[in-house]
Amino acid sequence: MIQFEEFTGGPLDTNAFLIHSPGGNILIDAPMGADRRFQNTEIHTLILTHGHFDHIADAAAIQSRHGCRVGFHPGTLPMVSDRNFFRKWGFELEVEPVAGELMLAEPATLDSEGAHFHILDVPGHCPGSICLYIQKSGLLFGGDVLFRNGIGRWDLPGGDYELLVTGIRNKILVLPDSTRVLPGHGPETTVGTERKSNPWLQH
Ligand SMILES: [Zn+2]
Ligand SMILES: [Zn+2]
Repeated sequence: MIQFEEFTGGPLDTNAFLIHSPGGNILIDAPMGADRRFQNTEIHTLILTHGHFDHIADAAAIQSRHGCRVGFHPGTLPMVSDRNFFRKWGFELEVEPVAGELMLAEPATLDSEGAHFHILDVPGHCPGSICLYIQKSGLLFGGDVLFRNGIGRWDLPGGDYELLVTGIRNKILVLPDSTRVLPGHGPETTVGTERKSNPWLQH
């Protein structure tokens, strides 16, 4: 069974997950404070679930400290390569560009440090949003797609409600009920719990 630890950081309480895989450590998302939190932990691979600022704030710092490879969906590229991307949305934020080495899009699988991930494209929260599924361990690192009793917001640029809900139904609710969902914000949940009681998925 794969072990992982959780770190929550930044003004939006964004969750990151450090997976301890037999071959090394994989970090899912890089909220503010993650670089400092894991400065003494070796990180081999950094995977970004999507390009929103709260998930990528420390990505460049982590990449330069650890020399780790970074993976994300091609749709995420503009958000992590254009210093001024978020200015176009009206935010006074500057992004330190990240060099992506792994392009992750369906139907890709990623074998990283001994962990085997299925990449699920679930846009709708934003373009390039992915979930990472480890079938053997029954774990879904979900980013801002499905939360306990909620779903990701779709009102930011590039968001699309229909796309989001369809993606959740077709890609996530088809997984076993016992699958643990580790979201980008808030507490973990399971596929079964959300199928039964998530108010956004009941009709
Ligand atoms: Zn987001
Ligand atoms: Zn977020």
